[in-house]
Amino acid sequence: MNRMDFNFKDHEREQAWAYLHDQLEHYYQDPKSVHAAPSLDLGKIQGYVGKYIFEDPVPVQEALDHVIRGMRQYTVHTPHPGYYGLYNPRPVFPGILADTITATFNPQLAAWSHAPFANEVENYLVHQFGLKFGLPPGKIDGVFTSGGAEANLTALLTAINHKYAGYGDTGLLGLEKQPVLYCSEESHHSVAKAAKNMGLGLRNVRPIPTNDNFEMQPGVLEATIEKDLAQGLDPFLVVATAGTTGTGVMDPLEGMAALAKKYGLWFHVDAAYGGAIILVEKYKHVLNGIELADSITFDAHKWMSNPMSTSLYITAHPGILSKTFGMATDYMPKEGAHMENLDPYSHSIQWSRRFIGLRLYLSLLVFGWKGYAEVITHQVRMGKRLKELLLENDWNIYNQTDLPVICFGKAEFKQDDRLALNVCSKVLASGKAWISVYRAGAVNGLRACITNYDTQNEDLEELVEVLNLSVNDL
Ligand SMILES: *Cc1c(COP(=O)(O)O)cnc(C)c1O
Repeated sequence: MNRMDFNFKDHEREQAWAYLHDQLEHYYQDPKSVHAAPSLDLGKIQGYVGKYIFEDPVPVQEALDHVIRGMRQYTVHTPHPGYYGLYNPRPVFPGILADTITATFNPQLAAWSHAPFANEVENYLVHQFGLKFGLPPGKIDGVFTSGGAEANLTALLTAINHKYAGYGDTGLLGLEKQPVLYCSEESHHSVAKAAKNMGLGLRNVRPIPTNDNFEMQPGVLEATIEKDLAQGLDPFLVVATAGTTGTGVMDPLEGMAALAKKYGLWFHVDAAYGGAIILVEKYKHVLNGIELADSITFDAHKWMSNPMSTSLYITAHPGILSKTFGMATDYMPKEGAHMENLDPYSHSIQWSRRFIGLRLYLSLLVFGWKGYAEVITHQVRMGKRLKELLLENDWNIYNQTDLPVICFGKAEFKQDDRLALNVCSKVLASGKAWISVYRAGAVNGLRACITNYDTQNEDLEELVEVLNLSVNDL
């Protein structure tokens, strides 16, 4: 190679595609060929990454080999059926295809006129999910985000812009009273992080203590709001979690919505994981009250098994995103200015935008709502089966939820916080499964979630076997 051919020759590209295809298929077909969790030897991993210093080009096949070996060895494998993780899925195949298409066309979604197909796909999906959640049909708006954290930050920003007309000009410094927001102590920490990032500060976040099943207590919420009002503070937002990250339980959405209404607060429902249950007729009642939300966070990269960074913020206030994020510029494309469409750069936190929504669109085209309802039901069933197996083997269950999230431990875990950690490391070291430790109230316990749509009965039996061995081995 004299001068680098940035385009590659046609036959070289074909060879590289074919090679990559074989490698990826091998992994995707047989995820059990790798350990579910890697050993975390930082020096070794850094040495591997730094093996090449980019001085001389290497053949593409060698480069691919290097990267794929690195991924196989040094990654927690969410496609592995023994991954009982933090809502990270085995990615569905259409989602993988979608990322390939997006990277190849590389549409820029910042301006509507640059990528009208992509933007309309995302608008369509926002609308469809808004309808599923029962938001008022004529009022649905929203945007795709990189994750639940960005969606939650968007929720805080829209809530505060809704409450204070001049917020966009003066910011927090222009407010006479301190705004405060409410969530439960089991809510995801991205809510508090968003308060920190937007300049509101952790001091103005009220984590409300939960009941025995880790759910928000509306009585405590109301008392806290009253106390803040009496002290001259300005409540503006209440965040409910529909499927908590730790224990998968639902906050009482209807009761919280009623309080939000009574006190004039924005009602945000963080349904990052649990929102997907809306697709299952038999269980969707657990989300009753979500239709009253001012805004919703929903991660399609969790229970809808899309690749990472597929998330939505959906709102029932059609003007609020442009009020919050609108900017006028001289240099952005104007071809679409005569149309009613809002340019996403003026409608969201991001500027340059990736075609995030294609993963979800292609998956829904291929599986339909029905396919998703079936696979989510399968996961609920696997969750119930795992609970049974654990109970049969003298494990205690600490949480109650229809969602396939199980917090569990042995009676002796109550006396010693280290036991759960020790069992967890033994399970990871087996290479057969990945689980985590979660403090469920007073007990440091173990946590397993059926995040992988391909986890079957025999995988559950294997997990319980590994758990029993790990405990006996303590
Ligand atoms: C995962 C999760 C988040 C954060 O979402 P990311 O996609 O990781 O940014 C927020 N809220 C809840 C309830 C979650 O489970």
